[in-house]
Amino acid sequence: MHAPTPGETPATASNHITACAECDLLLEDIDVPAGGESLCPRCGHVLREGCPDSVIHALILSIVGLCMFGPAIGLPLLSMSTAGLRHDASLAQAILSLGSSGLWEVAILVSICAVIAPLLNMWLMFTVSLILQMRSHPAWMPSLLRLNHTVQEWAMPEVFLMAVLVSVVKLKDLAQLLPGVGLYCFVCLMLCALLLGTLIDQHELWQTYESNRDDNPR
Ligand SMILES: [Zn+2]
Repeated sequence: MHAPTPGETPATASNHITACAECDLLLEDIDVPAGGESLCPRCGHVLREGCPDSVIHALILSIVGLCMFGPAIGLPLLSMSTAGLRHDASLAQAILSLGSSGLWEVAILVSICAVIAPLLNMWLMFTVSLILQMRSHPAWMPSLLRLNHTVQEWAMPEVFLMAVLVSVVKLKDLAQLLPGVGLYCFVCLMLCALLLGTLIDQHELWQTYESNRDDNPR
């Protein structure tokens, strides 16, 4: 543990050891208050940021994200009108079109990064936060937390949204484009995924699991 420098919020010590992700320095884990952060004294890497109430925030964000999933995938993202013809395209149709055009590799990549990984991420966060909120501590919980850490690295719905925006810019002179309900739902889904990645303190999830286990030993 290091002494807080000016600008840092004082933190209290807990009984765990953590390793700096950048330089592998072993340090005593500390509880960081809201708005504060703990830094590695050797390399300055941010070890932890104070994100209180991570469990309830994860539960709310994952429920909203899961509710947005169906509409984001099935409802039209864009409506394109040209020469009196109108065509609606959803995310599911876009992936199928990529596949039927022979771009199966791209279709699989889009499916994983924009659909499967975000869905799995939301479901894992929902399951974990709901169980933690219920003060339970099943033995398989650590496996879910580790799996979620891996899945989170593949969840990149924002990349698909960037591709949609590039298409809009390129097609705006050729056709009239209107955003569909699916696009708004997809943006909401993307925001939930981003907030789950930035607002949720994984350390707090682990600590809550351990305190649940310590409070109710079997
Ligand atoms: Zn370090």
